[in-house]
Amino acid sequence: MQPDERIFVAGHRGLVGAAILRQLKTEGFKNLIFRSSRELDLRDRRAVEAFFEQEQPAYVFLAAAKVGGILANNRYPAEFICDNLHIQTNVIDAAYRGGVKKLLFLGSSCIYPKYAPQPIKEESLLTGPLEPTNEWYAVAKIAGIKMSQAYRRQYGFNAISLMPTNLYGPGDNFDFKTSHVLPALIRKFHEAKVACAPEVVVWGSGTPRREFLHVDDLADAAIFLMRHYNEGEIINVGTGKDITIADLARLIKEIVDYSGEIVFDTSKPDGTPRKLLDTTKLTQLGWQPKIDLRGGIASTYKWFLEN
Ligand code: GDP
Repeated sequence: MQPDERIFVAGHRGLVGAAILRQLKTEGFKNLIFRSSRELDLRDRRAVEAFFEQEQPAYVFLAAAKVGGILANNRYPAEFICDNLHIQTNVIDAAYRGGVKKLLFLGSSCIYPKYAPQPIKEESLLTGPLEPTNEWYAVAKIAGIKMSQAYRRQYGFNAISLMPTNLYGPGDNFDFKTSHVLPALIRKFHEAKVACAPEVVVWGSGTPRREFLHVDDLADAAIFLMRHYNEGEIINVGTGKDITIADLARLIKEIVDYSGEIVFDTSKPDGTPRKLLDTTKLTQLGWQPKIDLRGGIASTYKWFLEN
């Protein structure tokens, strides 16, 4: 990937796409291509084909997807499966036909079986039943991985697939109805602090364990892999460390400087009990995350306050 080559970041307004775009700009890439969903609806096959014909990107970061937390996945299963299948099918196929040199597909750790041995190795893919609360999204992402592998096998198309763990950072979704736990808790603790509310409600039992990666680390890993990884096998991106939802809540409470109580609403779903990725493959290639959880949450809270 040379600084003057044409690079398309699909989904540049999302958490991941925005971070990749920021990082590419910082590294001096000049021919960056991006479109809002209003300018280019990636679910529209003809529009996507016309876009690739016209723009002729050499590299594609496929970070466009319909995403959401545990509640949104459960509530809008049809949109989660249908939109994601369309977006990735159109972009991967049009990229191959348009002569793209390399495409990076963003998956998710929820592609792995609910009871996969922890930490989860890449080989766990398709070895057991999925977590039901996000299986629609997961099945679409698994189809994207398989499509990338099929295009590599049949056409020699250089498509690689990254599986990031739970992400957070500036530009995150702070809408309670659709957000993931970390931004939701930042907002809940902040609003409770401002309102001097006596307690903050955290969903579920607090016992599930999750791993959190700052999106700037993910962007750094994505660019690193675009440069150095050319295999069909999926590759995990994470920190190698996880934390219970209860401890995460305590940490955010401390960072936000809230003095009330934490209560758990066990009528809400816990989701999968643990989701920690084995990142041996990536660390062996020479990549490490740089942002620790406390510092990452503090800077994300700062972004939230400013925005
Ligand atoms: P998941 O990683 O796909 O399960 O998605 P989430 O990030 O939405 O949820 C992770 C865990 O955090 C689940 O056990 C949720 O029940 C729990 N959780 C606690 N409070 C909240 C909240 O306010 N919002 C969300 N989305 N999850 C919460």
